[in-house]
Amino acid sequence: MSTGDEWEDALDQIDWSTLLNEVDHELMENLALELRFRTYEALKQSSLVLGEGYYLTHLSDGSFAFWHEERYVQEDVTFFETGQLFIHHAIEHFHLEGENLESLVYMMGESRPLKVCTFCEFQFHPDDPARRELGMEEIVDEQEGTITEYCSPQCSIEAMVSEMKQG
Ligand SMILES: [Zn+2]
Repeated sequence: MSTGDEWEDALDQIDWSTLLNEVDHELMENLALELRFRTYEALKQSSLVLGEGYYLTHLSDGSFAFWHEERYVQEDVTFFETGQLFIHHAIEHFHLEGENLESLVYMMGESRPLKVCTFCEFQFHPDDPARRELGMEEIVDEQEGTITEYCSPQCSIEAMVSEMKQG
């Protein structure tokens, strides 16, 4: 057997689709972490779907992150300080007009920024139905001027436990 054949055999044994999926998955999780989400799923669920693979995420600081689900490696995530700036970008680069433009303007008018979990510091959607079901709300301390809000029951329990340990 020549070296060339050995090479081919070795290459044949690699499951390329699994390998590529793993790489893809890792990159997706990196994107989620970059935008301060616990998982890629959470990022996707908390973003506005613009169509053709594009997503817009209304970050907790009020800015917007614009990204593509397949091309986020080649096309870096673009950040916009305000919704207005993003709308300008959409008109300029995507020639958005008429009904499409109207619906984008409407969607962005309705959009609320995400919140940051007091415990894990990841962002989450305040209107997540699962949180609503559990009756999770923000706790406002007017004296201290602070707002405490957790993304999940796990975080609220862990915060309680760590407070007990400190106290
Ligand atoms: Zn949390």
